[in-house]
Amino acid sequence: MPDAIVAEGLVKHYGPNVRALDGLDLTVPEGTVTALLGPNGAGKTTTVRVLTTLLIPDAGSATVAGIDVLARPRALRSRIGASGQYAAVDEYLTGFENLEMVGRLYHMGTRRSKERARELLERFRLSDAADRPVRGYSGGMRRRLDLAGALVANPPVLFLDEPTTGLDPRARLDLWDVIEELVAGGTTLLLTTQYMEEADRLADAIAVIDRGQVIARGTADQLKSMVGGDRIELTVDHVDNLAVAQRALTPLADGEIHLEPGLRRVVVPVSAGSQALVDAIGRLTDEGVKIHDVGLRRPSLDDVFLSLTGHEAEEAEDEDAEYQSKGDRPAEAPAAARETESIEVVEGKSR
Ligand code: ATP
Repeated sequence: MPDAIVAEGLVKHYGPNVRALDGLDLTVPEGTVTALLGPNGAGKTTTVRVLTTLLIPDAGSATVAGIDVLARPRALRSRIGASGQYAAVDEYLTGFENLEMVGRLYHMGTRRSKERARELLERFRLSDAADRPVRGYSGGMRRRLDLAGALVANPPVLFLDEPTTGLDPRARLDLWDVIEELVAGGTTLLLTTQYMEEADRLADAIAVIDRGQVIARGTADQLKSMVGGDRIELTVDHVDNLAVAQRALTPLADGEIHLEPGLRRVVVPVSAGSQALVDAIGRLTDEGVKIHDVGLRRPSLDDVFLSLTGHEAEEAEDEDAEYQSKGDRPAEAPAAARETESIEVVEGKSR
């Protein structure tokens, strides 16, 4: 399958001190969804801005939808849609007028622009609010309208920069449904996010980005298996029962059992999934050990991030929120020089 997005060796500095992209490589096969996952300041937005022709890199090359981003930016613009962290909608226009205006900007003609606006409002469940000014819309409705705006020209490749940041859980779920419908139709999507569950739910492949480089890539499951398999975590009623539990559970363990006496906790690596959990409960019940809490835990993408980068995924730098546009941001101290091996796990699965 051809790649809809190819970026090679992208480098971008902001001023003398900030190296926002540090040789970033990325490929997104056509018709698939890749999530760029990384903490604040990792370089996600900068990547999207380069790939959507808004920013010229200092080095490297990129092709989107078969078009060279640097050589033919104008040609590319009609082939992509982009929707950002700050919904780019006009507050004083209605939802309908916003979308119609985008159609006209694409020279779609009055009639077609109106038709397309109605179609998209319907699809994004905004028909009832179509004739209300956007200033009365909720955050979720604005994001849906912004996303609709990115689709007016029916682009084969779509970029969504943190599409659900700042939304409440209900609005986030709602937007995920909309995005899923969209990609089911074959659109190639590059999505940036700080949310593990968003990447987990929407993406075929995840590229973990840190300090301007892709440091690992794979499906959510592949990345998780890099940091180990399933484990049973249980808390027993009394510290004296820890040894009993250890003995009873040894036949189920796929590795060393860890005891945490202070928490009366036993952690058992297992390979038999939920069957191991059933067996463990049976064995402890047979031994008369009371269990306070028990569960099968899979490594989360948080664990992956921590193990790959040595720091948590969400290191919120709230000062960023104060700047309306990224262009207003102050320069930051350069990231500490680090040696990170790039780990190519596997290409993303195709739809
Ligand atoms: P976030 O999750 O906060 O959006 P990000 O992963 O998208 O973060 P970028 O916005 O690409 O990261 O920023 C990468 C680095 O470049 C950061 O150190 C950031 O502060 C810096 N940066 C971004 N835009 C500018 C700018 N216009 N001027 C100066 N520095 C900038």
